[in-house]
Amino acid sequence: MARVYNFSAGPAVLPEEVLREAAEEMLDYKGSGMSVMEMSHRSKVFETIIEDAEQDIRDLMGIPDNYRVLFLQGGASLQFSMIPQNLMKNGVADYIITGQWAKKAFKEAQKYGKAVAVASSEDKTFSYIPDCSDLPIDDDADYVYICENNTIYGTKYKKLPNTKGKTLVADISSCFLSEPIDVTKYGLIYGGVQKNVGPAGVVIVIIREDLITEDVLPGTPTMCQYKIHADAKSLYNTPPAYGIYICGKVFKWLKAKGGLEAMKEYNEKKAKILYDFLDQSKLFKGTVVKEDRSLMNVPFVTGDKELDAEFVKEATAAGFVNLKGHRTVGGMRASIYNAMPIEGVEKLVKFMEQFEEAHQ
Ligand SMILES: *Cc1c(COP(=O)(O)O)cnc(C)c1O
Repeated sequence: MARVYNFSAGPAVLPEEVLREAAEEMLDYKGSGMSVMEMSHRSKVFETIIEDAEQDIRDLMGIPDNYRVLFLQGGASLQFSMIPQNLMKNGVADYIITGQWAKKAFKEAQKYGKAVAVASSEDKTFSYIPDCSDLPIDDDADYVYICENNTIYGTKYKKLPNTKGKTLVADISSCFLSEPIDVTKYGLIYGGVQKNVGPAGVVIVIIREDLITEDVLPGTPTMCQYKIHADAKSLYNTPPAYGIYICGKVFKWLKAKGGLEAMKEYNEKKAKILYDFLDQSKLFKGTVVKEDRSLMNVPFVTGDKELDAEFVKEATAAGFVNLKGHRTVGGMRASIYNAMPIEGVEKLVKFMEQFEEAHQ
């Protein structure tokens, strides 16, 4: 068996320990005589799995009691609709456009009310985070929306926007559990787990209780109402049970690693190795302004498309896979999520050094 170093942006690398444990439990989960995939989501065994998962993510993130944790489906993309459907009471929301995901969320919100783009970094191919200290926030805005870590472009907010008292809503798909955050600064946080937490199919929504109401936009499907899922403790219908089980294992893995403070330190160390190399390289260049660099997604280029393609090809052959940049950006992107071991980054940099030498 040969595991590669997988730099995919998502679905992405998972901790090997978690995968081994899941493999051991595949045929007989804790004496139940069946796989978690085969059991009723109403069974006692599964109840324990989902309750433990919720408690563990609460512990990890320090989620206060007045926030609910929902395990939903539909990916991060369904939240682009659910957020306006549930939160646009005044029919107004402000969006900060820092990449494709924020833009898609913005476009979707326009279907439901007055969505306003109050800032954007599209003028420079989303290579920076705009100054958000004094934005023209609408007096009637129900919320201000951000995509906190921009998976495709490799930028991250180092400081949250000044929302002038309005509810902050954040897509944290690609920085989920990568470092501690202050949950109380947000009204709603959500993420598709397939970037940094678990397998595709689960989206976790962390929402302040006062935002969960029956007062949703007319025509909002039952399945798109936060209240329905909150009241049913994420068991209104069949949840993505196996995915939740794997997420629960990742939460335990993170706790054993020392929690999010320790994860942040580890992630900073990993990212520094790659960024330091890029900053001195004569061949490879990072594409993002230094202050706004993501710890999770690191895009870079050689400036020559053919050379980029050659690099990706040779890297793949050497066991460093999924380094091709997003189809809209080109070049390369190394996603170095929680589960990417530091050796993976060290070895990648070594490989890049060799490539650089060979192509001078
Ligand atoms: C991948 C991604 C999405 C889309 O996720 P789906 O689960 O495929 O809908 C949304 N936002 C961010 C930041 C992402 O990285």
